[in-house]
Parts: sequence; structure tokens; C-alpha cells
Amino acid sequence: MALTMGRMIGYTVGHMTIDAIVAGAGIWGCTVARRLADAGRRVLVLERRAAVGGNVRCEVDAETGIEVHLYGSHIFHTHVPEVWSFVNRFVQFNGYQHKVLASYRGRMYFLPFGLALINKFFGVELRPDEVAGFLADETRSKAVFDAFFRGYTSKQWGLQPEDVDESVIRRVPVRSSYDVNYYNDYNQGIPLTGYNSLFERLLDSPDISVLCNAAVRLEGGAFKVGGDVLPNVPVYYSGPLDELFGFKFGALPWRTLRFESERLGVRDFQGTAVVNYTEAEVPFTRIHEFKHYHPENAEVMSRPKTIVMREYPSAWKQGDEPYYPVDCAASRELFARYRGEAEAVPNLVVGGRLGGYRYLDMDKSVEAALKLELLP
Ligand code: UDP
Repeated sequence: MALTMGRMIGYTVGHMTIDAIVAGAGIWGCTVARRLADAGRRVLVLERRAAVGGNVRCEVDAETGIEVHLYGSHIFHTHVPEVWSFVNRFVQFNGYQHKVLASYRGRMYFLPFGLALINKFFGVELRPDEVAGFLADETRSKAVFDAFFRGYTSKQWGLQPEDVDESVIRRVPVRSSYDVNYYNDYNQGIPLTGYNSLFERLLDSPDISVLCNAAVRLEGGAFKVGGDVLPNVPVYYSGPLDELFGFKFGALPWRTLRFESERLGVRDFQGTAVVNYTEAEVPFTRIHEFKHYHPENAEVMSRPKTIVMREYPSAWKQGDEPYYPVDCAASRELFARYRGEAEAVPNLVVGGRLGGYRYLDMDKSVEAALKLELLP
């Protein structure tokens, strides 16, 4: 088969025989590709964007040396030993531990919900065993919930917190200690050599070929890229299912994000990587300042410039980037219909955040890809 379109990025397809296709080069697809190659299969990875890495893609800004997360902050964190050892086969992590601050009415609070936040918010000095009793008073728990959840959630989801699936809100830990680590996972970090190097190394195998600018579509039961019909081999697909089936049952609802980046002539703008703006009146949800993800890079840290990025969520419409699936009864039902269609396609395996229509952290995508049963 001759694949003529797209831009090759350092790998050759030539006329090699292909045993499997991975459509979508995000973290799920690249992990699957690596597993297939490790199992001796020859894999063709097709990516519709100009570069691999999905929403974990970064770009180093030439002027400041800062690694910018093009689709918003990504911090690798996991408590699953197999996931941690798998990613550590390819990159070393810098040990960055994520902290998130919340700005509310001009004051800064350490998230998640623990002693640091509660004591500052109420002007008290509670001890760990006093937190539960203190917040049993509904006026207090409502005040803290309204300050930090209601406004932020209404901007993020376009819904009141009561209408958002509980699992979303429960992502933010509640503690009765001064632990201000945003995640409960012991293993955390940012690749020392940058996120892009993780993808380059996952795909660096003589048995993996990568073709970018190559969107896969399903037409008359055959997978195609441009004018080429793809060989009849297993396809591991991580794009949106509604799109694959021409939106025949309607579009799955997503939230999208718009980012505004700015290079500033100050060494340090906010003193930390992420500040959430939890009031409904502030139009963005958070500000990312990426240089804080590489504290080990003293040279970049000391430069008198920084990059900040403001994040604005909104409802998704066709043509926008899908970021967060909107989990509700109607969307679950719609997704189940598309999944039924996908199950009827022989040789098709679907996964990842887009394919699975799931709110997935990076480690969960890797875990799912590691557990996946590969087709013969
Ligand atoms: N959330 C909030 N206030 C915050 C942080 C989070 O209300 O300061 C809610 C919001 O609904 C958000 C959810 O908790 O969508 C999960 O937060 P997380 O920080 O895990 O979101 P992510 O970083 O994945 O966008």
C-alpha cells in the first residue's frame, strides 16, 4: 500500500507490511503502539494533527526556554506501580509535586480542601480532629463550597455543582491535614526532557511508523486515509466515535477550552504553576505559569521572563477541540449507541479519552492501554 499523504516525522512507512494500525497518537494510542511493537507487530500510527502527543503536546518557547503545555497543564501522577514503571522506561521524571492555589475575592488559598484552606478561610486554627465537627455546621460547609466550587464549576461545566456528576467534584481531595499536595498519588512529576520526548521514545521502534496529518475515517465498512484504503488489520482508534460514524445519532456533548498565552517581562508572575480563580465573575478558570513545572532548570527559572496562560471553558460546537466529556444520562445513552456501532465493526478496538468518551487522566489512559487485550 502506498501512503502518499501527510508529513513523515522521522520514520518511514515505505512498503512495509503492516500488522496493526493505531489511529490517534495521544498517550493511549502511543502506549498501545509500543505494546504492539514489543509484541513483534509492525504498527502504523496515524495522527490527524501535525504532531504526536495529543493534548499532552508541548512546545519549548525559544525566547524564554519554557516548556509550554499547549493544551493546558499536564502533570503525570499515578499510584499504579505498573504504570509508573512503564513510563519510566522511556523518560525520567523531575519529582515535581503539584500544588494548586485558589484565588477568591483577592485572597490566596491552598487547595485541596484541608486545614490550610479552612483555617485561612474562617480565620480559625483548627486541629485535624476538629475539622469534621466544624464543617458539620451547614452554614460553614455551604460557605466554603460556594466560595471554591460553585463559581469555578459553573464556569467549567456551564452547570451548577448539583448538576455535575459527583465523580467530577470528588476528584478534588478533602483532607483534615495540612497536606497541600493536589493529588493523593505518591508518584508524580514532569519528564525532565519534556513531554514530547515521552512520545518520541514510545514511538521509537523499527516496527513503528508514524504518519501525521492523516485523519482516519470509516467509509462503507473500510478505514481510509485520504484516497487510500487501509489494509484489513486491527485498528486501535482513539478519536471521537460520533465523528467516526458521521454523527448519525447526533453529536456527543463536550466542553471545550480557549487559551490565551502571554509572555511577560517578569521572572515570576504568580509564584506557582496553577492558580484557580474560583469566583464566577472572573471570566477564566485558571492561570497556568509553566516555568514552575521545571524547578530543576535553574537557568530558565532565573530568566527575567515568564509565560502565563489563561484558560476559558465553553460549550463545544462542531469544529472546536473536544476536551471534557459532559457526563449525564443523555450523553451516556448516546455514547452507548455509538459504542454499539463500534462493536459491530470487526477488528476495531476503541479507547482513550476521546474514543472512550471519558474524563481520563494520563495515567488512567496508560493503565487502560496496558491492560488492553491485543487482537491476534
Ligand atoms: N473544582 C472547583 N474548584 C476548584 C477546583 C476544582 O469547583 O478550585 C471542581 C470543578 O468542577 C472541576 C472539578 O472540581 O471540574 C475537578 O477539578 P480538577 O482540578 O480535577 O480538574 P482538571 O484539572 O482535570 O480540569
